[in-house]
Amino acid sequence: MVRDKSYLLIPGPTPVPPAVMAAMSKPMFGHRTQEFAGLYHRVVEKLKLVFNTRGDVFVLTNSGTGAMEAAVANTVSPGDKVLALITGNFGERFANIARAYGAQVVEVNFGWGNCVDLKTVEEKLALHPDTKVVLATQNETSTGVVNDIRGIGSLVSQTPALLLVDAVSGAGAIEIRVDDWGIDMLCTASQKAFMLPPGLSMITVSPKAWEVVQSNSSPRFYFSLPACRKNIEKWNTPYTPAVSMFLGLEAALDMMLEEGLPNVYARHALLARATRKAVLELGLQLLAPDHCASHALTAVWGPRGIDADELRQVARKEYKVAFAGGQGELKGKIFRIAHMGFCDKTDVVVAVSALEMALARLGWPVELGRGVKAAQEVFLKAV
Ligand code: PLP
Repeated sequence: MVRDKSYLLIPGPTPVPPAVMAAMSKPMFGHRTQEFAGLYHRVVEKLKLVFNTRGDVFVLTNSGTGAMEAAVANTVSPGDKVLALITGNFGERFANIARAYGAQVVEVNFGWGNCVDLKTVEEKLALHPDTKVVLATQNETSTGVVNDIRGIGSLVSQTPALLLVDAVSGAGAIEIRVDDWGIDMLCTASQKAFMLPPGLSMITVSPKAWEVVQSNSSPRFYFSLPACRKNIEKWNTPYTPAVSMFLGLEAALDMMLEEGLPNVYARHALLARATRKAVLELGLQLLAPDHCASHALTAVWGPRGIDADELRQVARKEYKVAFAGGQGELKGKIFRIAHMGFCDKTDVVVAVSALEMALARLGWPVELGRGVKAAQEVFLKAV
């Protein structure tokens, strides 16, 4: 039994609201029942509102990477040319999945901490007119950068290529419009802005994507989207779904829709603004430039001369506040403060306060309360 009060401010898994926990604790029932069919139907209708699509939506029982693999396995045949737009660790992962399915991957690397440059995408698409699939990341969790999916979609939709988007840490925190922006497949997962434990992923499929899915020659079984489509005719899934998680998903979606999606997105934007302001006031540097800073998390360079992982350790051990570390080439150099999902103004105030104390403990010349004050002022101005 965990007795410590702790604060989870990592970009997934994120805190689960009591209403979602309660929904998941309902007695178990079978998945080949009217009860489950009704639940799946309602969940899909609500997800369509979040994703802004009239196309198909499936809920899969696996983590977000599973949805990304499903997207690739169903659209990429061996030898296909795939343009991978990379801005960090998760862009690299998408490219690696395509490679595992035999794609000829053309990597377009914008550098960790930068966002996708649309001019470059336009040039690459012109240079590679035989591109079958373009891979993009909406919210690059490893760097706290958000990419212009609308802009990328407007370029890709003028070509025969499909646009697959990893929105694992963005959807639900940052607006995304699948149909209007020309997204052929969107992949997301339960444990980020959807406020659930890990275990479910969601995927959308456009009519343009279905044409490719039918003729695709890659092997697929658990990740077969035609199997999902056949089963959803009866509001069912090909294999046993995580029933309790579906109950939790409906509760989480109800919370989001009750708050109102524009308000959900505005809340995330406000939390990001306050966090960035506070961090700068403490004399630390932000990784993402203002114009493409994520609303879901903030990546911060560690203070000069202090290992970012040591700082996180002090915050976690002494103040029970968990920040995430850097990944790949940024390991030990940055730390990441998530403000996504079940997160509000006071969470940011707690996070900044713990950060100040951890910095002070490590000898960084911090004026206690300065970051907290900056965050509070942002919040008070927004009232
Ligand atoms: N893509 C992004 C942007 C992510 O943030 C993550 C998880 O952190 C993933 C993909 C992978 O998702 P999962 O860990 O659920 O497989």
